[in-house]
Amino acid sequence: MKKVHITTLGCSKNLVDSEVLQGQLEAHEFQVIDSPEASDLLIVNTCGFIEKAKEESIQAIFEALELKKQDPAKKVFVTGCLSERYRDDIVREIPEVDAIFGTEEYRAILNALGKKHMAEDNLSRLRRVTTPRHYAYMKISEGCNHTCAFCAIPGIRGKHRSRPMEELLAEAQRLADGGARELILISQDTSYYGKDLYGKQRIAELLRGLEKIDGLRWIRVLYWYPTNFPLEALEVMRESDKVLAYLDMPIQHVSDRMLRRMRRGDTLQSLERLYDKIRHTVPEITLRTTLIVGHPGETNADFRAMCDFVRRFEFDRLGTFTYSDEEGTPAFSQDEKIDPALAEERQAEIMEIQKEISLRKNQNLINSEQIVLLDEYDINTGYYSGRTYRDAPEIDNEVLIPQNSATARPGDFVRVTVEDAAEYELFGVIKNR
Ligand code: SF4
Repeated sequence: MKKVHITTLGCSKNLVDSEVLQGQLEAHEFQVIDSPEASDLLIVNTCGFIEKAKEESIQAIFEALELKKQDPAKKVFVTGCLSERYRDDIVREIPEVDAIFGTEEYRAILNALGKKHMAEDNLSRLRRVTTPRHYAYMKISEGCNHTCAFCAIPGIRGKHRSRPMEELLAEAQRLADGGARELILISQDTSYYGKDLYGKQRIAELLRGLEKIDGLRWIRVLYWYPTNFPLEALEVMRESDKVLAYLDMPIQHVSDRMLRRMRRGDTLQSLERLYDKIRHTVPEITLRTTLIVGHPGETNADFRAMCDFVRRFEFDRLGTFTYSDEEGTPAFSQDEKIDPALAEERQAEIMEIQKEISLRKNQNLINSEQIVLLDEYDINTGYYSGRTYRDAPEIDNEVLIPQNSATARPGDFVRVTVEDAAEYELFGVIKNR
């Protein structure tokens, strides 16, 4: 049986693509293994979004080729966003690669292996989930109809395509049957779900359907877009026991001048009005956002406005990226580019402000009781790490719990008394179970 190793770069959407591919390969009796050295075929599922990610992907390709140099019988396939965006460049500049595929080219990959893909109707039916058993991502759509000036994704992933609701409900049931207790909905633009397929936004309806699925305890939604935000989804968050009061909505900036240059379609006033509605409708909401600093045209005054807003608004969770100059995006041809070193200074300053806010919010939770989903146990430290409803995997805070406080396993929901806090961690003990 041929052995295959898949390296996945980039975001959770790319991870789901690798999982769908793994399911197809296993259905054709390929063995997908963790060791690239022991593999006959090395597949690198790349990210091509921003400079740093592109460098990491190219590095991963060369690491695979290095193994091929040591054993010429090995094959190296490249797929994903980098090859979707730079296919011809890779063919020209890295001829050692055996085959190159764009995004979602599962059929072509299997054909290149002399196989015909299975699950003609629904590729995700054979998906092999690779996250810890108790949580799983579900991609509800592909592509994006927005044209944010700095973003290469619409050029890579194409227009917005919602997946049919029945297909999603069936997949969610399979994921729950497979052990998922937390289901995390992902896309490029969750607010738009259904508009292309049904002529109207149907994310609230999808959430109502998902909450009926036995076995799921937490339903978390990522990547909301502020413009035309489906307010009916807030009712679901307020009323549901399963749909978490957690809202991840990148806003990228708060200066009207910059929001125009970024082609975001929002203003500070429209964002504040929306946030007021959100906090009013769902008082216990956890708000996450991401900001971009150093976008062409960003003045010191624009940046100061961002600092003031972050200080005043107090997001629960915040990520900040420096602008990446991506050819083929509208911003690439804008003037007034910002020195990358200055952009990094601005990123550091925003995260310093956020660190204080995060510490204070975490300290307010000391002596409180929290429901925590345990993600893993570290045998070296003797500590569990887990998350509250306020924390998505990999990107948010974690709760650290000594094992001696009670026996539990990853995937368990436990009651934790918070005893201490740091900027991005809570420390606590499991209450008697
Ligand atoms: S919403 Fe904007 S930033 Fe997000 S994927 Fe679409 S174009 Fe890119």
